Amino acid sequence: MTKNTVQAFDSKEDIAHFIGGKLHLPSNSRFSDVYNPASGHIARKVALASRDDVNAAVTAAMTAFPAWADTPPLRRARILFKYLELLNRHRDELAAIITAEHGKVFTDAQGEVTRGIEIVEFATGIPELLKGDYSEQVSTDIDNWIMRQPLGVVAGITPFNFPVMVPMWMFPVAIACGNTFILKPSPTDPSASLLMAKLLKEAGLPDGVFNVVQGDKEAVDALIENPDVKAISFVGSTPIANYIYERGAHFGKRVQALGGAKNHMVVMPDADIDKAVDALIGAAYGSAGERCMAISVAVLVGEAADKIMPKLIERTRTLKIKNGMELDAEMGPIVTRAALDRITGYIEKGVAAGAKLLVDGRGLTVSGSDSGFWLGGTLFDHVTPQMQIYLEEIFGPVLSCVRVANFGDALNLVNAHEFGNGVACFTSDGNIAREFARRVQVGMVGINVPIPVPMAWHGFGGWKRSLFGDMNAYGKEGVRFYTKQKSVMQRWPESIAKGAEFVMPTSK
Ligand code: NAD
Repeated sequence: MTKNTVQAFDSKEDIAHFIGGKLHLPSNSRFSDVYNPASGHIARKVALASRDDVNAAVTAAMTAFPAWADTPPLRRARILFKYLELLNRHRDELAAIITAEHGKVFTDAQGEVTRGIEIVEFATGIPELLKGDYSEQVSTDIDNWIMRQPLGVVAGITPFNFPVMVPMWMFPVAIACGNTFILKPSPTDPSASLLMAKLLKEAGLPDGVFNVVQGDKEAVDALIENPDVKAISFVGSTPIANYIYERGAHFGKRVQALGGAKNHMVVMPDADIDKAVDALIGAAYGSAGERCMAISVAVLVGEAADKIMPKLIERTRTLKIKNGMELDAEMGPIVTRAALDRITGYIEKGVAAGAKLLVDGRGLTVSGSDSGFWLGGTLFDHVTPQMQIYLEEIFGPVLSCVRVANFGDALNLVNAHEFGNGVACFTSDGNIAREFARRVQVGMVGINVPIPVPMAWHGFGGWKRSLFGDMNAYGKEGVRFYTKQKSVMQRWPESIAKGAEFVMPTSK
């Protein structure tokens, strides 16, 4: 057994809020249990914020806003440079926290932290990103320019599956733009939020610029309804994304709400089959399929199906599933007992609907971790587009294979799905690749790349019911989301004509 040299995270302390630069744990707080999914035991408790706790965080963020918004962008960037240094130093500690509460394998958790760090690297370029446009002499003696200014207090509501990376899609860009921020992490794996807050403070971020309220629906509703919160970034499941978008709009807020997914990978008969198998195994079962960009449907075109299936069965059966702190683990446990029950429920539905269950992950045991939330990789063939396991997001290590006759059928299948987050096409034909990228109705496309998560400077966002709102997370769209445009038109008294003007000004 390969042991990790990194210390496992096993704090017993209750997880508090972080408001105005200090931990905050009211004596009358509600709490929720936080599990270690590999042991199946309660590891610690997290506070659940009341409306008063949320209002205290908003007040702290409001108080910090004027000075922070006035801080020159370069000085804000310098704090982010320091934060970057601290994140790199604490990368493994953050990764161990992720593994302890989410269950994903440690090396994957390290990758998650790195993808978060890349957003901080992007945000350090904020002086350049905030540069406005300037037009000299738009009319005689008149100049016009554009500047982008921060919104005020903004909030981020994040899912369990990336407790470090997804918050870092949001707050580095938001605070670099001069906003103050309130993070509402998932109560399933909340500990990483406090280490991120501590490191920001250590980097020199003024108190109140970054706050954390732990909690559930009560905290979320309090954030949406508070008139001093100007924008909400949400990432999570589609029903909640839809709810946040509608409620946020009702209260006049700017909202970007990223939702669920059902990502297809099309395998053409001319694809390199071994590489396609590698890609499917990693993308379907990595992080136990609990990634919004996981591949959950393999669309096997023509003879690709018979070529790929025996290899896929073999590789799914032999996945190394164990505690994620063991370095040779390929897949860890499912995040919670409830998620495990939901996923096994879908496997039952697939069998009942007539899909062919080729590898059944149910009933897996892992020695030394009898009560953990274990499920093996599960593989279905002959799934049809009418089945519930095809239509709905399962969010677990279940891969559904759909067989189609040709490229056109594959494209139509992908395009008819209600989700449009990520998609991939494996082929060695350049024209197929080009046509696929142009015609597919999905926001993020991989050509021979199974999980095409865009880099920090490109921005992340799906289409259809995978994103509500019109701006992507991070990248330049993130900067636009967290700022509002102001146009200034100027002339000086020397050039002002005498007398009132009653005609529409033009570029005279
Ligand atoms: P979730 O929707 O259950 O929870 C997300 C957040 O919303 C959490 O902070 C949670 O506390 C809060 N929340 C839950 N129920 C709520 C309610 N009724 N009212 C108000 N707030 C509520 O999602 P999850 O299970 O934590 O995460 C998995 C989901 O997130 C999957 O659907 C996955 O596809 C999606 N996801 C999407 C992306 C993306 O970029 N599109 C990225 C990661 C995860």
